[in-house]
Amino acid sequence: MEKNLSKSGQEIKRNDTCPYFAGRKSILAIEPICWFCKYAGFDLKSDKLPERGICCYPEEQNE
Ligand code: SF4
Repeated sequence: MEKNLSKSGQEIKRNDTCPYFAGRKSILAIEPICWFCKYAGFDLKSDKLPERGICCYPEEQNE
């Protein structure tokens, strides 16, 4: 890899995306956006739908 284009460690929003997108296994990823990405760290246990999370690429966060 010549250049690291990932947003690893950076804040992401639900509709962000990047070339490293990989869909979570447990859900149907209808769009290649961070919300459906297995590397995205969103607080899915919070009461409200989280708007922002952290990209944790290359560590898988969600199945
Ligand atoms: S969460 Fe996934 S799609 Fe979003 S920036 Fe990180 S690797 Fe890319």
